[in-house]
Amino acid sequence: MNEDFDVVIIGAGPAGLFCTINCAGNGARVCILEKNARPGKKLLITGSGQCNITHEGPVKEFLAHYGDKANFVKPALYGFTNEDLTRFFAARNLQMTADDNGKLFPESRRAADVLNMLLEECRAKGVEIRTDEPVQEIGKFPGGFLIRTEKSQYRARFAVITTGGKSYPGTGSTGDGYGLAAALGHSIAEPAPALVPLAIEDYRLSRCSGISLPGCAVGHYRNGKRIGLWKGDVLFTHTGLSGPAILDNSRYVLPGDELKLALVAFESAGDFDRDLVARLSVHGRKTVKNVLGVYGVPDRLAVEALESTGIAPDTVFSRLDRESRKIMARSFTGFPFRVRRAGSFNEAMATRGGVALVEISGRTMESKKADGLFFAGEVVDVDGDTGGYNLQWAISSGCIAGRSIARLMDKKSSVRD
Ligand SMILES: Cc1cc2nc3c(=O)[nH]c(=O)nc-3n(C[C@H](O)[C@H](O)[C@H](O)COP(=O)(O)OP(=O)(O)OC[C@H]3O[C@@H](n4cnc5c(N)ncnc54)[C@H](O)[C@@H]3O)c2cc1C
Repeated sequence: MNEDFDVVIIGAGPAGLFCTINCAGNGARVCILEKNARPGKKLLITGSGQCNITHEGPVKEFLAHYGDKANFVKPALYGFTNEDLTRFFAARNLQMTADDNGKLFPESRRAADVLNMLLEECRAKGVEIRTDEPVQEIGKFPGGFLIRTEKSQYRARFAVITTGGKSYPGTGSTGDGYGLAAALGHSIAEPAPALVPLAIEDYRLSRCSGISLPGCAVGHYRNGKRIGLWKGDVLFTHTGLSGPAILDNSRYVLPGDELKLALVAFESAGDFDRDLVARLSVHGRKTVKNVLGVYGVPDRLAVEALESTGIAPDTVFSRLDRESRKIMARSFTGFPFRVRRAGSFNEAMATRGGVALVEISGRTMESKKADGLFFAGEVVDVDGDTGGYNLQWAISSGCIAGRSIARLMDKKSSVRD
């Protein structure tokens, strides 16, 4: 038996929930079909459960955080900005607060508070959220869409695909949306893991796992030639490198590339060496490890990194010969790592690729292939940097998709009429 709705939204992540909130109400019959037993499973683990929902600053500064997709994301981001987002939650008694890096979080630092508020808003607008209902098929019928799940069949004038990407598949984002979009005539840009940590060949710093270097300069080399220079926080893991500077740039890295990390804040080995010499009279009696501590290198990292230079960490600094000092200066201004591989979808915080942007209107998020079909969030070929840019995209695109549907519903009659 068919059940009729004005709008069926496939996927109850942030994009689907924001779309719903913006088209429900005023008597519209809106239903969300969610594959998992509960909505928003991925939202709950964002920002390690604290939900870095967006970033502070003028929205025009956001555009640079979406690579070559800046033009496409602009109408959505301007249509529902980071300030709109903050106001939306503040009006419902959930204040946002920024950390030192400009990342915005709910004041409670609980992603669950964000999700609960969105679900409450859906309930208040009379939206049905049907869980354990993975959508298996979607097709067209005159005046709308036919959507099939294992349990039921739905007809809707408008359909929205907000099934997310393929990263962290355990959260429900397993790429189903690509097949659904393709069935309605859409092309898919090959999905690939984005925002991934990097596994390093012959990694020697596993004992440094958990250490983070703020504002670290990272040189990116291919075939001996520098092809990039990044700056940001780097985190050492059990198998390699992570942290914002690595995650944000992982899209440019190939296996076999070399990364050279400045473990101290000097641009060249020569500068660092000159500074070491200048400080010899003050720090001469310290151990080499402790001298590195003066430059902000954590003990454990100093010990492990020195090992690869052959310099004993407890060597008294004044006894270090010139050649060894120069080796240390070179090593700590460009500590080399060879990339073994980039992380898989299981480790990726986002998905590159997705529903091709040329087939979607960036102003409304409506399909150019099928009238009444909309997309929002990570299912489309947009991925942002770390720092709240992916949630802002999911929310802004969901919001303008919902508003566009609401406008069309005002104009046209629903399938029930
Ligand atoms: C560990 C981790 C931490 C992150 N932290 C941050 C952060 O702090 N800030 C930030 O900006 N971004 C963060 N992200 C990225 C962010 O979570 C995503 O970009 C965002 O959730 C995308 O929203 P979405 O609604 O498009 O998709 P999703 O959140 O993936 O939601 C899609 C929903 O669709 C459902 N679904 C899938 N297939 C079907 C189907 N066939 N039928 C019905 N339902 C279906 C899924 O079960 C899921 O509930 C993080 C990601 C990860 C993995």
